[in-house]
Amino acid sequence: MTLRDKKGKIEVVIGPMYSGKTEELIRRVVRRTIARQRGVIFKISSDTRTKEEKVISRAGTSLEAKVVDVASDALKYVDEGFDYVAFDEVQFFDDKIVDVVKEFVNHGTDVIVAGLNLDFRGEPFESVMKIAAISDEIALLKAVCVVCGEDATRTQRLILKNGKWMPASKSDPVFKVEGEDIQIKYEPRCKDCWEVEE
Ligand code: ADP
Ligand code: MG
Ligand code: ZN
Repeated sequence: MTLRDKKGKIEVVIGPMYSGKTEELIRRVVRRTIARQRGVIFKISSDTRTKEEKVISRAGTSLEAKVVDVASDALKYVDEGFDYVAFDEVQFFDDKIVDVVKEFVNHGTDVIVAGLNLDFRGEPFESVMKIAAISDEIALLKAVCVVCGEDATRTQRLILKNGKWMPASKSDPVFKVEGEDIQIKYEPRCKDCWEVEE
């Protein structure tokens, strides 16, 4: 088997909001760049937090990214022979993302994905879990619980009701991008401080 026949490897970076997923994705891409590897970062256009062609971490670091409308748009780059591709906020991509990841792997390109493992209800994001299941490496990052200071593994969604921030309810839609609606905010919490209304 020649080196070119080698399949790509999958690295998964998961955890709640604020756990440093984007920071870690950037760190991994930067060191690959130092190693003279070629690749691109993809972000999905439905992530309205920033329309900029960049991924930006809350720690302030950023890197250029290609904005795609659907997961399969990334396949335009499959024959580029990239060493790696990376997907940030992978839970926002449509279900085709799992096949897209496999396609890059079959073309010998490593894939780094960063995203939420759980939604605000504490339910897994199916496509993220499917990628994790076939991955070569998983990093589960933790944030700091804003209530008690313990390690945070959950994302709390809060809704502004009558001037007071209240836990969101299980029946709310899963996808709501931060900043899109001033009535909603998210914070990292540990399992004990995390609340969701039935
Ligand atoms: P993610 O992509 O997981 O949402 P980012 O990589 O954008 O996270 O940001 C991680 C950074 O957020 C940390 O390095 C830290 O500077 C900052 N931060 C702010 N609040 C918290 C918190 N409660 N827990 C952990 N990090 C926090
Ligand atoms: Mg992020
Ligand atoms: Zn807590």
